[in-house]
Amino acid sequence: MPASSPPDRASPTPRRAVFLDRDGTLNVDLHYLKDPERLELHRGVGEGLRRLKGAGYLLLVVTNQSGVARGLYTVKDVEAIHARLLQRLTAEGASVDGFYYCPHAPEEGCACRKPGVALFQQAAREWNLDLARCVVLGDRYLDVEAGRRLGMLTAYVPEPGSEGEYAEERPRALAEADLVAASFLEAVEGILQRVGKDSDLPGDVSVPHAGRAGSMDQRTAGGTRKDSLAG
Ligand SMILES: [Mg+2]
Ligand SMILES: [Zn+2]
Repeated sequence: MPASSPPDRASPTPRRAVFLDRDGTLNVDLHYLKDPERLELHRGVGEGLRRLKGAGYLLLVVTNQSGVARGLYTVKDVEAIHARLLQRLTAEGASVDGFYYCPHAPEEGCACRKPGVALFQQAAREWNLDLARCVVLGDRYLDVEAGRRLGMLTAYVPEPGSEGEYAEERPRALAEADLVAASFLEAVEGILQRVGKDSDLPGDVSVPHAGRAGSMDQRTAGGTRKDSLAG
C-alpha cells in the first residue's frame, strides 16, 4: 500500500540525497549477513557520512536483500542488522535517515531490486527529492546502473579488501561511473568536490533535519513498513 508522507518529511523545496548501498559499501560484505554481531563498518564511513550530512544531504540506504526470498533470513533479521548499523554509526557521531530494501529474489523480476529503480523513486516521493541532484554510492555495477537510469551522479567504490571479487563487472563500472574511489572517504571527497559548485542552490543546506533522533524508517517495496527502532 502506498504510504503517505508523514509531515516531518515534507519539504517545500526538493532536496538532495546520497543513496548508499549497504553491503560492501557501508559495512563489510559477508554475503547474506544475518547476525548483527558480525556487522563491521568500513573504515571512514562514519566520518564520510558526517561530511555528507554537513553538506546538506539526506542519507538513504538502498539495499538488495534477496536472502529474505531465499529463506536465509527474515525481514526481522534485516531490520535488526539496520538497527545495529545505526547503533555503530551513532557511536561515530553519524547516522542515516532511512533504509529501503528489496526482499525479493532476482528471478521474481521485481522493480525494486537494484538495478531496478523503484525504491529510489519511492524515496524521491517520500522525501521530496530532486533525483537529478542526488548521488548513488556503491560497490557494484548494479549501483552505478541504477544511478545512471535516474540521471544521478554515480560514485563507485570497489569494496576495499575484496579486490578479486566481481572482477568481471568492474570494467563496466569503471567506465560508466562518474567517480571512482578507493575508499568510502575518498568517494565522499570526490562527491563534495563535484557538487561544490552548485551548493548555493536552494534546498542544499540548512535542511530541517527529518526524522527524530534515535528513530529510523524501514521501508520495503511499496512502503508497507515504517518501524521506529530505538537507537
Ligand atoms: Mg554492495
Ligand atoms: Zn524487489
